[in-house]
Amino acid sequence: MIKSKYLTKVTDINKLYLEEVINVGDIVVDATMGNGYDTKYLAQKVGKNGFVYSFDVQEEAIKSTKKKLEKENLQDRVKLILDGHENMDKYVKEEVSCVVFNLGYLPRAKHQVITQPETTIKAIEFSLKLLKPHGIISIAIYTGHPGGMEEKNSVYEFVKNLNQSEFSVLECGFINQINNPPQLVLIEKKKEYL
Ligand code: SAH
Repeated sequence: MIKSKYLTKVTDINKLYLEEVINVGDIVVDATMGNGYDTKYLAQKVGKNGFVYSFDVQEEAIKSTKKKLEKENLQDRVKLILDGHENMDKYVKEEVSCVVFNLGYLPRAKHQVITQPETTIKAIEFSLKLLKPHGIISIAIYTGHPGGMEEKNSVYEFVKNLNQSEFSVLECGFINQINNPPQLVLIEKKKEYL
């Protein structure tokens, strides 16, 4: 199959924005660690003086991410947290330049453990407060699994109502793909918000 060169996956499109936002030395959050690809990417981007907080409720996620980080000697700049992102306020006290969400279930693990509308919204709400001006929250949303569409609707309902003088909210997705392609929502904080 001939692959696209630029318009590939929403998670790659996401990186085009993240590249602009993340600077060396930044503090950032991976709200859904999963297999640790984003955590590793973020750890590389923030450099040795930056820091990544990464959350997941599954032991498997922590294990596989830890292994990935150790292979690249990135473990010292990352805190792997076995707790829900809805409890982010217990762990993250500093301003951050980005918070990354990749919703749904962990590929190859128990598909019953999925992100849930209520806790996802709670985590997004707290992330909005943590963001520094011009920081970004990115949310990859999947609708192909049971509960996915409900979660998408809840997230959209919430982000659609954010005040446009405080936040810019962008939706992006491949509209000609079959099988429920993921959607990406990006939120930029325009100014200070309490
Ligand atoms: N759907 C994506 C991967 C998502 S991984 C893909 O196909 O690539 C989502 C991760 O979120 C899973 O590892 C799951 O354990 C985790 N998760 C579920 N509920 C959570 C919560 N409340 N807080 C943090 N992580 C959570």
